[in-house]
Amino acid sequence: MIRLKLSTQIESLREELKQWLKDNPPPRRAQADSTTATFVEVGRGWQAKLAGGRWVGVHWPREFGGRSLSLVEEAVVQEELVRVNAPQLLGLFGLTMVGPVLIKHGTRPQQERYLSKILSAEEVWCQGFSEPGAGSDLAAIKTKARVTAEGLHITGQKVWTSFAQVAQFCFLLCRTSDQPKKHQGLSYLLIDMKSPGIKVRPLRQITGDDEFNEVFFDEVFVPKENVVGQLGDGWNIAISTLMYERVVLTFARQIQSEVLLRRLLEREGEIVDRSLRAELAGHLAEACAVRALAYQHLIEYASGKSPGPEGSLDKLFWSESFQRLCKFALKLRGRLAALSEHSSEAGEDVFRYFYSRGRTIAAGTSEIQRNIIAERLLSLPRQR
Ligand SMILES: Cc1cc2nc3c(=O)[nH]c(=O)nc-3n(C[C@H](O)[C@H](O)[C@H](O)COP(=O)(O)OP(=O)(O)OC[C@H]3O[C@@H](n4cnc5c(N)ncnc54)[C@H](O)[C@@H]3O)c2cc1C
Repeated sequence: MIRLKLSTQIESLREELKQWLKDNPPPRRAQADSTTATFVEVGRGWQAKLAGGRWVGVHWPREFGGRSLSLVEEAVVQEELVRVNAPQLLGLFGLTMVGPVLIKHGTRPQQERYLSKILSAEEVWCQGFSEPGAGSDLAAIKTKARVTAEGLHITGQKVWTSFAQVAQFCFLLCRTSDQPKKHQGLSYLLIDMKSPGIKVRPLRQITGDDEFNEVFFDEVFVPKENVVGQLGDGWNIAISTLMYERVVLTFARQIQSEVLLRRLLEREGEIVDRSLRAELAGHLAEACAVRALAYQHLIEYASGKSPGPEGSLDKLFWSESFQRLCKFALKLRGRLAALSEHSSEAGEDVFRYFYSRGRTIAAGTSEIQRNIIAERLLSLPRQR
C-alpha cells in the first residue's frame, strides 16, 4: 500500500521471497488466541520452514545462520510475510531481543548452544524483566541471585511475562549484588524454564487471552555459564535489549496497522459518509508517516549507527496511532461489533481493539517514551 523506493538489490530480495512464498504458502492464521497448543504448533512449523529457506533473522551474521543483511532487508521480509497474511513469528522475542544480544555480548558456547534453535523456533524465549514494583522503573527490580561457587540461586517474582507458559527459556534481569546505585549490581541470565523452583501462573487479559503470566522463582539454580556479559553488567545489556525491542519488534508490530488498513479498504469498499472517508484518509496518512519514520531509522542503522533513543519515536507514534485506528474500525462496524462472536470478523475487530490497549504499555509506556524523547532527543531539562 505504501511504496518506498528501495535499491534494486533489496527489491530483488523481495522478488526472491515472493517466489518462495508462492512455492511455500503460509498456514492460515490461527485464531487470535496467542497461547493455544495450535498457535504454538502452527507457529513452530511455519518458522522452521522459513528458517529452512533462510528467511528468518536475515540481519543476523551469516556465521550464525543469518544472511548478514541490514535491518532494511529484515523489514522487507516482514512486509512480504504480512502481505501474504502469514502468522506472527512464534519466536519473535528470541529473534529480535535475546538473539541480537547473544550475537553482541554472548560467549562462543552460548552462541553455539542457543542461536540456531532461536532461528528455527525449536526453542521459544520469554522476557523476564518487569516485576510488580518495577516496570517503568526497571532498575528497581528486586529478584535476587545468591552467587555461589557453582552458580546462581534465583529468588523473586516477575510479572507480565508474555509466552512464559510456552517458552523453553527466559532471559532474565536480576540483582546479583547490592550497590549504592540501583542500576548497578544487575545481571542478565539465561534460564531454562524447566528448572526446579519455577512456577508460572497465567494472567487473563481484557481480550480474554492469557498471553502473559506471573513467574515465581524459588532458589532456582542457574549455572555460571548462563550469565551474559560480566556479572553486574546486566543494565547495559538490558538497555541494548530494549533498544532492539523498540526498533525491530516495533517494526514487526507496526505492520499490523498496514494489515488492518488494507482489510478496512477491501471490506468497506466505497465509504459513502464523507466524514468517515476523511477519517480513514487521516489514518492512512498517519500510517504512512509512522512507516516512513521507521524506515528512516532502519536506513540509519543499516549505515552503521546503533539503535538508540529514537526508537521511542517509532514505538510511541505506532502504538498510539494503532489504538486510534482500531477504535475507528469499531466505529465503522457499528453496534453489531458488540454482539459478534469472537471467531467472526467483527469479533476480531473487538479483539483487536482490546489488544491495542496494551500496546501503549508494553515495551515501555507512552509517558516513558515521551520522557526519553524529551530528555535524550530534545535535550529538555529533567523534571525534579
Ligand atoms: C501486553 C503486554 C505484554 C508485556 N510483556 C512483557 C514481557 O514479556 N516481559 C516483561 O518483562 N514485561 C512485559 N510487559 C510489561 C511492561 O513492560 C510494563 O507493563 C511497562 O513497562 C509498565 O510498567 P508497569 O506496568 O509496572 O507500570 P508502572 O511503571 O507502575 O506505571 C504506571 C503508570 O505510571 C506512569 N509512570 C511511571 N513512571 C513514570 C514517569 N517517570 N513519568 C511519567 N509517568 C510515569 C506510567 O506511564 C503508567 O501510566 C508487558 C506489558 C504488556 C501490557
